Amino acid sequence: MGLPAALLDQLSGTVGFDRDAFLQSHQDATLPTSIRLNPTKLPSLPYATQPIGWANHGYYLSERPSFTFDPLFHAGTYYVQEASSMLLEQAVKQFLPKDRPLRVLDLCAAPGGKATHLYSLLPPNSFLVANEVIRSRALVLRDNLIRWGVQKALVTQNDPEQFSALENYFDWVTVDAPCSGSGLFRKDPDAIAHWSPGAVQHCSLRQQRIVSAAWQTLRPGGILFYSTCSYSTQENEDISTRLIQEKGARPLLLSLQPAWNITPSSPGYRCWPDKAKGEGFYFCCLQKPVEGEVAMVAKKVRTEKTLSKKEVAIVREWIKEEDDLYFQTQRSIYGWPRLCWDEWHQLIKVLNVIYSGFRVGQIMGDKLVPDHALALSQRLHQGIPLVSLTVEEAILYLQRKPLSLAERVEKGWCIAAYQQHPLGWINILSSRVNNYYPKELRILKESLTD
Ligand code: SAM
Repeated sequence: MGLPAALLDQLSGTVGFDRDAFLQSHQDATLPTSIRLNPTKLPSLPYATQPIGWANHGYYLSERPSFTFDPLFHAGTYYVQEASSMLLEQAVKQFLPKDRPLRVLDLCAAPGGKATHLYSLLPPNSFLVANEVIRSRALVLRDNLIRWGVQKALVTQNDPEQFSALENYFDWVTVDAPCSGSGLFRKDPDAIAHWSPGAVQHCSLRQQRIVSAAWQTLRPGGILFYSTCSYSTQENEDISTRLIQEKGARPLLLSLQPAWNITPSSPGYRCWPDKAKGEGFYFCCLQKPVEGEVAMVAKKVRTEKTLSKKEVAIVREWIKEEDDLYFQTQRSIYGWPRLCWDEWHQLIKVLNVIYSGFRVGQIMGDKLVPDHALALSQRLHQGIPLVSLTVEEAILYLQRKPLSLAERVEKGWCIAAYQQHPLGWINILSSRVNNYYPKELRILKESLTD
């Protein structure tokens, strides 16, 4: 792998950079594949695994299986994520307050690795705003959060500067910034051709703009988690140091086990692939000075159209008893946590919200047509029948192909499940089974060898 000479020159003198070991780690073809389990869906995996020290549900796999053909992947029981990125968990565990509900933002969230991780670590009654500026990527982020089964999250598609309406608002902001990507060269050698000192400079300026917006929306005493998958100091330590010098940010020191081989690089930390078992990564935790006003929790607001008693009764037949209220927009019904009701009504006025809470479905006549998101959420009513599929049937289901299950189940709406984990809806009629797996999510490949 021919690494750019200009990158190697830039890195000489950087804390922890060992040129020979670094070059060697880029010649080694066996890259660690890693996943993070969903604590609300914990699957029993068919793969040999080894725990990742810094993430409770993180595992290295001994080989890279076909995730596309694993129904457990589509059920949202795990997320395929690079191990170094899971260090977010140490920052959250060591610095995020646990004694109160929090407002948390992931400003550059697609495709959703850190957003799903962050969501799983939040204290009760907190909520996450997962934002992505690029529309197509925001839709992927939404789908990944739905698969993860989130209920207390908003997905937004906004430029970071549009968060200025929410000054001093969030308790925690993650900025996993767009970067020059040198930390992922081992996984994506094609990216080497796009790297240049000019690209680093361009990314650095963009990162300054993004963190400045993030800083504004952070409440006094709130915490910024800043990270990149670049090795360049201009995109890492320089960005963090500016916040310290210009905004009075306080760097927070993490306690990390020596065996993990993470390199402290003031004011943050670096993962070098020849030391820590993962790809290149920089991260830093900065606290905003505590003086200043925190943006207030919203007062009661005038709500949009709410459901009638009759409609609520229809919806309740499908949902586990929880303290949710229902919000309706463009005929779709969404469940929102009662505690977030007023606050989210304010947020939808200032942000471009593309998904909120969990989508329940649409009422047609006096019946609910349930949504895919409800099937994957933790809110599904226990009384809804579940049809256990074999692995072959599950693949057919995920390819949106016809299934013949007629003898096995009652008529009506059922959950298609694999190893008890819901994959989506089927509707059993007397003559056929209607497959309701969303067309845009279906597996397009015919087989593993396609
Ligand atoms: N945090 C994500 C995860 O863990 O899955 C990965 C985020 S990726 C490194 C950076 C994201 O920033 C991309 O999704 C990219 O589309 C987005 N982005 C690009 N330009 C941006 C900008 N000007 N402001 C904010 N985000 C931007």
